[in-house]
Amino acid sequence: MNKYDVAVCGGGFAGISAALAAAREGKKVILFEKEYMLGGLGTAGLVTIYLPLCDGYGHQVSFGIAEELLKLSVTYGAEDMYPENWLDGIGTKTEKDKRYLVRYNAQVFAILAEQLLLENGVEILYGSYVVDVDTADGKITSLHVYNKSGKSTYSVGSVVDATGDCDIAKFSGVPTETFKQGNILAAWYYYVNEKGMNLRMLGASDISDNEREDAIEFIDRRFTGLDGQEISEMVCLSHKTTLNNWLKKREENKDTVISTIATIPQVRMTRKIVGEYELSDVEMHKYFEDSVGMVSNWKERGPIYEVPFGTLYNKAVKNLIVAGRCTSVNETLWDVMRVIPCCAVTGQAAGTAAAMTDDFSALDVASLQKKLVEAGVVLHEKDIIK
Ligand SMILES: Cc1cc2nc3c(=O)[nH]c(=O)nc-3n(C[C@H](O)[C@H](O)[C@H](O)COP(=O)(O)OP(=O)(O)OC[C@H]3O[C@@H](n4cnc5c(N)ncnc54)[C@H](O)[C@@H]3O)c2cc1C
Repeated sequence: MNKYDVAVCGGGFAGISAALAAAREGKKVILFEKEYMLGGLGTAGLVTIYLPLCDGYGHQVSFGIAEELLKLSVTYGAEDMYPENWLDGIGTKTEKDKRYLVRYNAQVFAILAEQLLLENGVEILYGSYVVDVDTADGKITSLHVYNKSGKSTYSVGSVVDATGDCDIAKFSGVPTETFKQGNILAAWYYYVNEKGMNLRMLGASDISDNEREDAIEFIDRRFTGLDGQEISEMVCLSHKTTLNNWLKKREENKDTVISTIATIPQVRMTRKIVGEYELSDVEMHKYFEDSVGMVSNWKERGPIYEVPFGTLYNKAVKNLIVAGRCTSVNETLWDVMRVIPCCAVTGQAAGTAAAMTDDFSALDVASLQKKLVEAGVVLHEKDIIK
């Protein structure tokens, strides 16, 4: 049977960060991704705005791999919102300045991320759906994977669930919660006209029904993102909405052409674990002794959250850790924690931890923090705001 120290399930921003961090610790790492590119919603889902690494008042909040991937994404230039002066140095910004964010090219980022993981020794298995687990003595012993070769089994030391949907947590019996409100329909797509390539962002985040966008049809329906039939219907509605929107644009400008549609469903929140700790939206500016990094709030300037290690695991399954959209936060904070920089922060912490142990409840968190700091992560707000 194939045997790996660390298995990362899902190759979105959380999975990329986790695999990179674990490989840099010298472990034998495999990454399973059901699509044929890395980046998840951030590439195949056409969500290409790398939301801010800063608090909006001049303080960088997220560091380490979160910043490394932002810089990687603009290696050959940005699509928009280039964070020019941020890359020259920080510390002098006010609320009048732009935040440290960027819009990048999805395809270029996916290729560069793939090269980065390969250079660091991560084995990437594309077209590979993790469909089940075996457990014994409170640990996942192996993962069942379907791909073009058929069904294979992989023996694992520790597992990072970066599927965005907590698939592995669900298979292994870790308690999970689903998004109660449900997702609105989204239909982000790219079109080209004489002005170049444009991103049309149809379907804003977390809007109430009475704030609906005219362009989105069937808005009254909400989607869990966890049912095969429902997801297919959602994707068809999204395609139809894209077509209708483009046809309207074409009436105004005959040179407008659709260039790219998403190849994975555009759902924001689906399932998260019930962690040893659930971080709440009111816990901004709170010191956590077991912080593994910090995130800011993309929706408003000011709030900073330290991320406790306990948000990443539940001791029901000792060798499973989660990252990205799967992290244990309350419903309100979920809309903050799900975005790209936060996924990179939790991914780096989860991957580093997964390289250190196959029992997260017994991990010496101080040793994990030491490794994260050595890798450039800043753990506490007091270290950025004196
Ligand atoms: C419409 C929309 C707009 C958004 N706007 C923004 C924005 O402007 N900026 C921003 O920063 N964020 C935005 N987000 C959120 C952000 O894009 C995602 O939450 C984030 O990229 C999630 O990263 P992730 O790695 O946790 O999960 P995902 O990106 O979902 O990655 C999970 C990966 O796991 C794979 N996978 C899933 N299940 C399995 C399995 N069982 N086996 C193998 N592989 C599996 C998937 O194919 C995918 O590649 C938006 C999201 C949506 C839907």
